Amino acid sequence: MTGQSDTERRETVVIGGGQAGLAVGYYLKQAGRSFVILEAGARIGDAWRSRWDGLRLFTPARYDGLPGMAFPASPHSFPTKDQVADYLETYAAEMRLPVRTGIRVSGLWPSEPGDGFVIAAGRRHFRAAQVVVTTGAYRRPRVPDFATELDPEITQLHSSEYRNPSQLRDGAVLVVGASNSGAEVAMTTVPGHRTVLAGPDKGKMPLRPESRLARWFDIGFWFFVNRVATLDTPIGRKAMPFVRDHGGPLERIWPADLAAAGVERTIARAVAARNGLPVLDDGRVLDVANVVWCTGFRPDFGWIHGLDAIAEDGWPRQVRGVVPGVPGLYFVGMPFLHSGGSALLGGVGRDARHVVESMAHLPRPMTTVIASETATAR
Ligand code: FAD
Repeated sequence: MTGQSDTERRETVVIGGGQAGLAVGYYLKQAGRSFVILEAGARIGDAWRSRWDGLRLFTPARYDGLPGMAFPASPHSFPTKDQVADYLETYAAEMRLPVRTGIRVSGLWPSEPGDGFVIAAGRRHFRAAQVVVTTGAYRRPRVPDFATELDPEITQLHSSEYRNPSQLRDGAVLVVGASNSGAEVAMTTVPGHRTVLAGPDKGKMPLRPESRLARWFDIGFWFFVNRVATLDTPIGRKAMPFVRDHGGPLERIWPADLAAAGVERTIARAVAARNGLPVLDDGRVLDVANVVWCTGFRPDFGWIHGLDAIAEDGWPRQVRGVVPGVPGLYFVGMPFLHSGGSALLGGVGRDARHVVESMAHLPRPMTTVIASETATAR
């Protein structure tokens, strides 16, 4: 790996400077710990900036604040993705969090016994007694294998690549996956393209997020997702695989909206390719010019080596973010890390605090800290 001379030592390294990493940073700072947050993006908030045009939160601003700083918008408004990105950037600056942008961690290994971890980011190396992984769950697009058998003339985009209809060819669009991403993407493509939205029905929330009644409903909803639907309760354990792996009920775009806009909705799944065209499990072959895969993501922790931290299903072995078999290693920010709110702006703070409190018994900051402090408090 590397010699000591070009290795920086920290008590704690947080990998990922999205909302989860910043929330962890907030509590580390409160606890007076020595730490740095390494963020791959050029700017804090880029994970949000790179999502499709027109994306707005389905959670109102009053529930979108990270610990210590309310979201700066009318409490009942629904921030845009760019407002969220700017909020995260401002949060890091206001809280004076040591975030280093443009540093993508490429590997994490155990160090010598009793000496924590080695973290590689290109030619840079760090050593830390504790590592918190907050790289997000939405990293590796999940696309079915038969996608490679579709005609190369068909434009294929995963929802993480889709921005707006200017990326599409003339002709029909098949949107695969009918949870919130699929429904929202279909609404953007249907004005100029025949649009088929395929995938099992996910149901819908009982109220429109913008409705006045939803303001009351939200109080119960947040109590439920943060306090009741946790991995400590039967209902939480039952909900976890659905929330984590399948996408939830429709929030803002409801079936009636899709129908009114002219989206052709089918509960059939796209299951195969025939003569280069997608085939649904009801036997239909769709002659489309574009496919947008709103089929979710897989966890991506392949850069973690030599640590008994990742289960066979690709998700971390953790209890409320603490990895039982690897002292000093933590995860924060994934759907249902502990509760239904774990991956939401308004829920991640609880998990972050629990993880930092779990570290409290560890010794005070390590003695060796790099001489030239280049961390930026943006
Ligand atoms: P991310 O935001 O993905 O941040 C992870 C960070 O880690 C990124 O900045 C990334 O650049 C960095 N990173 C990744 N790998 C590395 C590496 N190897 N080295 C260094 N840095 C790395 N939540 C709500 O509360 N309300 C909503 O309305 C809402 N709507 C959503 C709509 C969509 C379409 C999606 C996808 C999510 C939505 N969410 C919403 C869920 C949630 O808020 C986001 O998924 C959130 O971005 C998760 O935060 P995170 O910090 O865990 O991960």
